[in-house]
Amino acid sequence: MFETAIAGSLPKPAWLAETQKLWPQWKAQGDELRQAKADATLLWIKAQEDAGLDIVGDGEQARQHFVHGFLEQVEGIDFEHKVKMGIRDNRYDAMVPQVVAPLKLKGRVHAFEAQLARAHTKKKLKFTLPGPMTIVDTVADKFYGDKVKMAFAFAELLNQEALALQADGVDIIQFDEPAFNVYMKDAAEWGVKAVERAAQGLTCTTAVHICYGYGIKANNDWKEKLGEEWRQYEQVFPALAKSSIKQVSLECYHSHVPPEMMKLLEGKDVMVGVIDVASDVIETPEEIADTIGRALQFVPKNRLFPCTNCGLAPMDRDVAMKKLQALGAGAALARERYR
Ligand code: ZN
Repeated sequence: MFETAIAGSLPKPAWLAETQKLWPQWKAQGDELRQAKADATLLWIKAQEDAGLDIVGDGEQARQHFVHGFLEQVEGIDFEHKVKMGIRDNRYDAMVPQVVAPLKLKGRVHAFEAQLARAHTKKKLKFTLPGPMTIVDTVADKFYGDKVKMAFAFAELLNQEALALQADGVDIIQFDEPAFNVYMKDAAEWGVKAVERAAQGLTCTTAVHICYGYGIKANNDWKEKLGEEWRQYEQVFPALAKSSIKQVSLECYHSHVPPEMMKLLEGKDVMVGVIDVASDVIETPEEIADTIGRALQFVPKNRLFPCTNCGLAPMDRDVAMKKLQALGAGAALARERYR
């Protein structure tokens, strides 16, 4: 009961990459960088295990950014000539690569870190991939001329990698779709279907993570404008509930999402965000157990997975470590309280 997990990313240690940045520069190159990525991955697996988490991940230590890390292994993308593009409906500008030719995988994308993580933990292993709609929103298109067509082209590539990750021994494959909370109509119309295409043929657990983004200023400013009640999930969850995806990861603690939204996910496992990634204040176990208690009004015990609201990548490493420990302790308290 109350198996704990993180959304996905964790801060990169200062010896691996620049800290507190969404697109950090690596500190080494070649074999040295590869070794540093491996060391950081192992460090975070140990930290998650020590915190008592039930489901662990690689912390996305081997990729620069959760979307571009995948794109680096895709043929048909020009990384040499990045262009400035407003992403997430112009919420913030990013330097993005351009799609210039038919998309094809160059080979495996995440074999190194997935196999490394699998070899070093006996816990359930979750691995994250960007969702098709979020990829399409984080790349410039100079080739397909059609968003949906390009999203499904990416979904095919994601599916290849996801099947290979499953063969590597990954237990849960999660597609990250923050764009679902921005383009709700598109998400319901074709975004969920594109995720299902990416998950086609998987027999391991499948998940989708939908959030209000990392705790960076552009996102925090955007959230200020979303009003008293954030009802974005209301438009997307019914499509997800009907889909073949098994788990949904959502924001809860400190967000303005009405908790009854979780009722729309009947039949799904719900990864409930009990850790705020936009604040350095460490949640107490009591606060976490309280959040779990509120969610229990709408999600059955056996379907509730306490989680972080989003990734912790741009946070201070020490703060992230303490938040992992709080998550473990909070879930333990909730197991006593609500058994
Ligand atoms: Zn997120």
